[in-house]
Amino acid sequence: MASCSQLDAVKGAKVLMVGAGGIGCELLKTLALSGFEDIHVIDMDTIEVSNLNRQFLFRQSHVGQSKAKVARDAVLKFRPHINITPYHANVKSPEFNVEFFKQFSVVLNGLDNLDARRHVNRLCLAAEVPLVESGTTGFLGQVTVHIKGKTECYECQPKPTPKSYPVCTITSTPSKYVHCVVWAKDLLFAKLFGDRNQVNDLNVHSSDDGDTSKSTEDVFERNQNEDPEKYGRRIYDHVFGYNIELALANEETWINRKKPRPIYMKDVLPIESFQQNGKLDNCIKEDVAISAMQVVGLTNPQDIWSLAENTKVFFEALRLFIEKREKDIGNLTFDKDDQLAVEFVTAAANIRASSFGIPMHSLFETKGIAGNIVHAVATTNAVIAGLIVIEAVKVLQGDFCNCRMTYCLEHPSRKMLLMPVEPFEANKSCYVCSEKPLLLELNTQKYRLRDFVEKIVRNKLGMNLPLVMIGANLIFEAGDDLEDDVAANYARNLEKVLAELPTPVTSGTVLTVEDLQQELTCNIVIKHREEFDEEKEPDEMVLTGWNAPNKESRFTSNGESSTHSAQVSERTETTVDTDTGRERSVITGTKRKLSEIEAASDNSEIQSLKPNSANHETPQQVIDNDDDEDDIVMLDAFPEAGKKKKVEVS
Ligand SMILES: [Zn+2]
Repeated sequence: MASCSQLDAVKGAKVLMVGAGGIGCELLKTLALSGFEDIHVIDMDTIEVSNLNRQFLFRQSHVGQSKAKVARDAVLKFRPHINITPYHANVKSPEFNVEFFKQFSVVLNGLDNLDARRHVNRLCLAAEVPLVESGTTGFLGQVTVHIKGKTECYECQPKPTPKSYPVCTITSTPSKYVHCVVWAKDLLFAKLFGDRNQVNDLNVHSSDDGDTSKSTEDVFERNQNEDPEKYGRRIYDHVFGYNIELALANEETWINRKKPRPIYMKDVLPIESFQQNGKLDNCIKEDVAISAMQVVGLTNPQDIWSLAENTKVFFEALRLFIEKREKDIGNLTFDKDDQLAVEFVTAAANIRASSFGIPMHSLFETKGIAGNIVHAVATTNAVIAGLIVIEAVKVLQGDFCNCRMTYCLEHPSRKMLLMPVEPFEANKSCYVCSEKPLLLELNTQKYRLRDFVEKIVRNKLGMNLPLVMIGANLIFEAGDDLEDDVAANYARNLEKVLAELPTPVTSGTVLTVEDLQQELTCNIVIKHREEFDEEKEPDEMVLTGWNAPNKESRFTSNGESSTHSAQVSERTETTVDTDTGRERSVITGTKRKLSEIEAASDNSEIQSLKPNSANHETPQQVIDNDDDEDDIVMLDAFPEAGKKKKVEVS
């Protein structure tokens, strides 16, 4: 039962909810039923059919309409007297500035991406409004509280980094099925169906390669009027046979590794059985999605196909792309909802897995891995929404001492599924909430300002409308409303390397970057460096002083999952849970010990926790991706946990 003071706090509060999706629907309902009377909701999305199974404020008839507006109408039906203000808009748009945020007592996030979360964090810091942040992935979830000057901010801890893998692991020495999937999706699929001009590491180069690279490039071009089957056979033999032979020639690679086995078409599918495929052609109905597995006679996506079946699917998918979707070829990017693309990637990944002695997987599992999919669980969203409201009420009462971060676990840990942890104090090296400068090592003679702005300022630092200064000299500013000559000047600067800017950047130069909307300023000390490790530092720069969440990877996938594409920090081990296709990151060496959670908690049940076996579920931060049919995994751990002190709240 709510106390009088709680009710007063709730009634008088003006709250901003960001996101009206999986968590947001639950949250808006729970807020309304808890007595909140002034709620503002921002969501840029419209309702999709795939939302209806859990975003229960929405019905079939709402498909295509604004989530924020429909959610409001649905809740007003059972709480007609309250005020709900919907905004069908992007929270990053300029209207939602610091002044806008200042009007709220608390901000509640139910977002689906890192970018927007970082943006809201910065606005809350600038407006000095408490933020209750949340996320779910499958059965996992968390709610965290961020209050300027009292707790860490959302960005004090590095956030989950979509995984990436060393290039050589993908191109030459895969040891897990996920490596084969990345190869099939980001290299082979991209090479055959995507933009051919993109640099691609598909071809294996032997040590005495010479200038054969040009001729091997041509292998992937289909000759004019070349029979699709002949073309398919050529590709197949090249990537699964010839390339493996080439790789085997690099003897030293295999000293401590199991050697792969080259696979040639003729060994898997004798000509006769191969040619039978064509006869099934007329099975394809025009009105159903084009499917190679259907043509081949495979029906269950959960079956693991044999090498021969994978080979048939590979050919059939390639043929169908050429014959039925020719206009797509050249600009396709992998999409987990594209049946034929998933079939092709599954078949190619399995054939490669077979070659390297890695267990094969079903189409269903491969789709999960390729799209980093974890299915959303409505109950988790409901639990998390309830916890958000509990924390919001504490914040509104000024009861900061009792605020908790709560982790929703997949399996009970000492009979607990919800693990409360006292909030941490701010990370003193956080560039967002402290003024700590960052150190950036790069080659000032080679690194262009454009790359600095795009890859570092926007991508890594998450700035939306940045400007860049050297001392008092403005060298770049984002925006549409610039004078022509100013814009032209910035455009010229963007193409220059840092050392050749009007104010040259050399070792020791301090660059100031600023985002006026986020009211965030950050100083970056430049250190000139010429040599970079190709594998460990493929971006040819090192940003320190803060652990970057969003390092751009060589294997960045396209489209919606681009921010989730894979990356493994040096301290991170990645494993794939084959049941769910989910990747888990475990920070090695600095993993938070339960004894630390123990010390950080008042909860008597937690007091009894002891560091447990290796399979003990450690709380992991997850990010909700609940706006689509499936969730994309972004699991987090606590790399800095060991260094943190608990918050002393006065
Ligand atoms: Zn911070």
